[in-house]
Amino acid sequence: MVAANVAADRPRNAKAINSMHRDAVDAWIGLGSNLENPKRQLAQAVSALGGLNQCRVLDRSRLYLSSPMGPQDQPDFINAVVKLSTRLTAHELLQALQDIEQSQGRQRNGQHWGPRTIDLDILLYGDQMIDSEDLTVPHPGLSHRAFVLYPLWELDADLLVPTADKPLSLQALITDLQQQDTQLHCQPLEESM
Ligand code: AMP
Repeated sequence: MVAANVAADRPRNAKAINSMHRDAVDAWIGLGSNLENPKRQLAQAVSALGGLNQCRVLDRSRLYLSSPMGPQDQPDFINAVVKLSTRLTAHELLQALQDIEQSQGRQRNGQHWGPRTIDLDILLYGDQMIDSEDLTVPHPGLSHRAFVLYPLWELDADLLVPTADKPLSLQALITDLQQQDTQLHCQPLEESM
């Protein structure tokens, strides 16, 4: 019985030891909520991010109030960005974010851009570009979303966003977005998390 438990624990321990030897990477996580007390949902998610194995919260933006994308018959969103230092791989981090979403009652009802208790996205993972079946980094929506670009800029105004060509500055992306009339309303709130 004891031997079986040790064997069952081995892969998990091996994983933890492997990740301890990885260099820490800065990752920027986008948070959004428009259901069941969104400010509380964001605070709870930040606390869960801080509790993740091999992760440390380095900084967090103010809260932003933004109009919903897609269906308009839903409440406005509260958004923010958190900067993490992590030794998890990007895929391990994605899995950890999905676990947090699930623990906060996120329902996946198939409605694209529908209402949600909590949405957690990997916006940037160091300066890496990732294009796999379940993970695209930088997040594909990053450059079109004021509620992502403004809080990112608040945290790291000099941040560069990797692209297949040359890296783009946040400032350039924000200037581009401001020239489009499709940009959604987004304003910082006085209260913080
Ligand atoms: P969402 O509806 O925003 O929660 O997105 C759901 C899907 O997006 C998940 O199944 C993820 O596998 C996928 N996905 C792709 N790239 C990312 C990313 N950078 N961050 C979070 N989810 C992502």
